[in-house]
Amino acid sequence: MDVVLDHKELIKYPFLKESQQLARRHVESLEEFLGSNSGAAALERAKARVIAALSAKREFQDENTQNLRPEFEIASYALARILVSCIGDRSLIDRLARYEAERASFFLEAEGPEIRQFVAWSIGINTGTVVLPVTDYVELVPHLRDLRWRLINRDVRQGTVHLEPGEIDELIRERIRVILIDQLPLRVPPGICERLEPVTKEIAASYQQQILEQFGEVKEEAFPPCISSLIQAITTGGNLTHMGRFAITSFLHTIGVNITGIAEIFARAPDFDLEKTMYQVEHISGRGGTEYTPPSCATMRTFGLCANRDKDCERVNHPLSYYRLRKNIKKRRS
Ligand code: SF4
Repeated sequence: MDVVLDHKELIKYPFLKESQQLARRHVESLEEFLGSNSGAAALERAKARVIAALSAKREFQDENTQNLRPEFEIASYALARILVSCIGDRSLIDRLARYEAERASFFLEAEGPEIRQFVAWSIGINTGTVVLPVTDYVELVPHLRDLRWRLINRDVRQGTVHLEPGEIDELIRERIRVILIDQLPLRVPPGICERLEPVTKEIAASYQQQILEQFGEVKEEAFPPCISSLIQAITTGGNLTHMGRFAITSFLHTIGVNITGIAEIFARAPDFDLEKTMYQVEHISGRGGTEYTPPSCATMRTFGLCANRDKDCERVNHPLSYYRLRKNIKKRRS
């Protein structure tokens, strides 16, 4: 397409090939760049990007507060990806991808048709259409949770899916998110991760704090019956299935229990094997590069893990919701 974005516009869409080329022209060696003033400023901006991705609030107006040159602002996007790759936590990676997709989408919605079309075209979407071939549609929507995206709920005619006004913007955002998530984590040389450790530690601490604030202090007495039953099974030497171990680890990880804390629960087993446990726990906690959302009640039921249901279970469809509910009830009573 015959559209040329200026440098200020490229800042808004740092994932574009053109943006990457601009940054690469000015950053030849990452080591040297990190040692320069511009590199330090870009790293600070990269940290701000990741911290912003952790927040539930999105504010994209206040762009480039440090007045970095466009090429270094774009470099901060690359550095943010390096930072989360060094940390290696899948949910942090997911949040950064979501943040960058929402940020790009925010700017895109205000653009004229030419730029909109160009950016969308760069990621394989045609903005000029109100229909999509079914094959393209099903590729775009599998992670969109709203039931309206299910093919069964769509207006499908002659092999095409009709889109409602505004839906193309949602699909563009989702497409950007998926492209970004597929590229992460990056393979970062260990020396670079070591050099970035002060910043990655700060981010990890901030992330941990955010999780703790969201779920508050860990209260075992508020655990849902299924999770308590799994813990009980571990304590009494019961053999857990892979799904059982996955359910308990991902649940504990999501509510803010660190890897050591999770391993301590597994250590209650009479035949506790530290090495094997640490490997599994680290893997399920996000070091292996897969998504680690705890299973819903429906999935727990499917795997025979929904045990000892109680009356509060009637009000939830996810063990995490049960936990939040019970904690709130306890808080109100105290
Ligand atoms: S209904 Fe949900 S929260 Fe309750 S025990 Fe079953 S899986 Fe756990």
